[in-house]
This record gives sequence, C-alpha cells and structure tokens, in this order.
Amino acid sequence: MGKWENNVRRVVPYVPGEQPNQPDMIKLNTNENPYPPAPGVKKLLEEMDVDVMRLYPDTTAKLLVDALAAYYHVDTKQVFVGVGSDDVIAMSFLTFFNSETPILFPDITYSFYDVWADVFRIPYRQIPLTDSFHVKPEEYYSENTPNGGIIIPNPNAPTGVELPLEKLEEIIRHNPDVVVIVDEAYIDFGAASALPLLKKYDNLLVVQTFSKSRSMAGMRIGFAIGNEKLISYLNDVKYSFNSYTMDCTAILVGAEAVKDDAYFKKTTAKIIETREWAKERLHALGFVFEDSQSNFIFAAHKTVPAKEIFDALRQQHIYVRYFAKPRIDNYLRITIGTKEEMETLFTFLEKFLKD
Ligand code: PMP
Repeated sequence: MGKWENNVRRVVPYVPGEQPNQPDMIKLNTNENPYPPAPGVKKLLEEMDVDVMRLYPDTTAKLLVDALAAYYHVDTKQVFVGVGSDDVIAMSFLTFFNSETPILFPDITYSFYDVWADVFRIPYRQIPLTDSFHVKPEEYYSENTPNGGIIIPNPNAPTGVELPLEKLEEIIRHNPDVVVIVDEAYIDFGAASALPLLKKYDNLLVVQTFSKSRSMAGMRIGFAIGNEKLISYLNDVKYSFNSYTMDCTAILVGAEAVKDDAYFKKTTAKIIETREWAKERLHALGFVFEDSQSNFIFAAHKTVPAKEIFDALRQQHIYVRYFAKPRIDNYLRITIGTKEEMETLFTFLEKFLKD
C-alpha cells in the first residue's frame, strides 16, 4: 500500500437498490412511480431546441424555483433546488450540521444519512424507534438529548410510518437552536406536510423530491423550502461546490410537471387507492406491517422468512427491497406499482406461500 492511501478520505458508500433491466420485470424495489410523468413533459421534450445545450444552464434554475414557489405559496427566496433530494440533503448536511455535538436521526431510516455524516465528518447519534417502528419524539428534545441538528423523514423510510404533525412540531419546538430537516420524499401519498409550520419556525427545512409522486426519478430533481436565511446559506455552499447543479432539461421539465396539478393529484390518488387495496391483500396472505402513508409497504410474513420470499420473487423477475440489517432483516419493502403489477405479485405469493 502506497503512503498516499493514508490521506484518502475513505467511506463506506450508500448502496442504492438494484436497477435490473429485463423486459418482463415487475420493479417494486426503489419506490419509483409506475405512471409516466405529466403529459406536458413529453411534449416539451419533443419540442425542445437542443441548441440550448451549448450554453450553461441558469445557475438559479429560475423557471423551476418560480414554479415551485407559486405552487407552494412561498417566496422564491424560500426555495432551493438540486439534483434529486439526495443532492439537496447532502448540501443541507454540509451547510447546517457543523457542530461538534452529534446530529440525531432514527436508527431505522434512510440509509444515506449516516453515509453523508461519515463523509462530511459530522458526529451523529441514532435514536431507536419503538418496537413497532414509531419515533419517540421526547428523545429528540434538546433538553433530553443535546444535539447539533436533526433530520427525520416523514413518513419514515423504509417503514412508511407517519409521525403526526403535532408530534413533529413538538420536536421542532424543543430544538430552537439547531436546524431541523424534515425529509418529505413520500409526503404526497397521504401524510401531513410540515410546510405550514414554516411560518412559525425559522430553523425548519422541508425537503421534497420529484422522484416519487411526480414520476421523475430519472431526471434527478429535488427541492427544499425554508426560511429565506436558511436558503441563502444553502445557496452559498452550493455555489462553493458546483454552480451548475441542475441541467437545462431538468429545469424545463421540472417546471412543466409542477404546472399540471390535475395529473399529479390523479396519479397520487391512484397509488393511494392501490396501496389501501394492497394492505388488505397482504394481510390476507399472512403479512404483518405498520400502517404506511407512503408509496410502499414494509411487511414481514408471520411464518416465512423475508429473505426466502425475496429470493423466490427475484427468480420470477419481481423485484422488491430486502435489507440484511439488524431489526429489519425479516421485512420486505414493497413499492406500490400499478394494480396489474400488484395482482401479478399477489398471484405468485398466494401460490408460493401455500406450497
Ligand atoms: N429521502 C428518502 C427518505 C428516500 O427514500 C429517498 C429515495 N431513495 C431520497 C430521500 C432521495 O430521493 P431522490 O434523490 O431521488 O430525490
């Protein structure tokens, strides 16, 4: 080993869900949306003048920021956009979590948080969820657990469990001296957003994404909404890292997608309806799970180990997500697909679990 290796910033990287590419597959493993993006997106792309690609994109992504500010009824100075919410959250960690006191997040949560904390050398502490995967709010209060910041996904991932807004507000209220980030990647599937709390708390940052409810995981668009001052600090760090994060296509189609609210409401409602039906089917098949308000269900089977079911499904080219991690290694995270995709899944499971 060369001595240079002593100076390498070593990290154990985040492992994303696999992206298999088989024509007959049913892909329920990365919480993507089974429906296409808003129709206007296709039209825009067909008509797009590729000459715009010669030029650098608008560093402020004004078109997209304006569309989001209008949609969420906030000032444009309160909106920050990035290359998926992964980029937005990574920038937020770098900007706001700059204390020697550990930041807090749940022990079972989005597995990128500890990776960002490690890569940025941010100390962190994971607060255990209850046995039924619920957040214990008091453990996040600064008087109980002094901390340098908090990030909580609501609904949580991979559990799908919603933290009621009153409880989330208590966490924010008890932490006036640090930034509290609420990761709302799955908020559009029925849970209550923390956005209305922005009027009361200047230390709250709400992060959302186009990857799930807006069917655009491949375009990589995420955003944060918060107090003007928070957003200005975020932009300072972004411009010190990479001025041109959003490409010209993402800015254009992102703004277009936001404008079609009817399509957005229709497709999210369809997923919610399929999810509620899937809950009944899963219960009937002997699965147990906490109630989910997201576009996935995190379920264990009463008798058959999750890994066995995962492997059997994989052989059928039905992909779900399995995490070989403490406390959750008997669970499957099943993304809600179309009703037809879910039917195929349940037909196979019925046969498999009977044998
Ligand atoms: N937060 C949570 C809780 C997630 O599950 C994901 C999806 N992997 C993300 C953020 C990141 O999503 P994206 O970068 O596609 O916006």
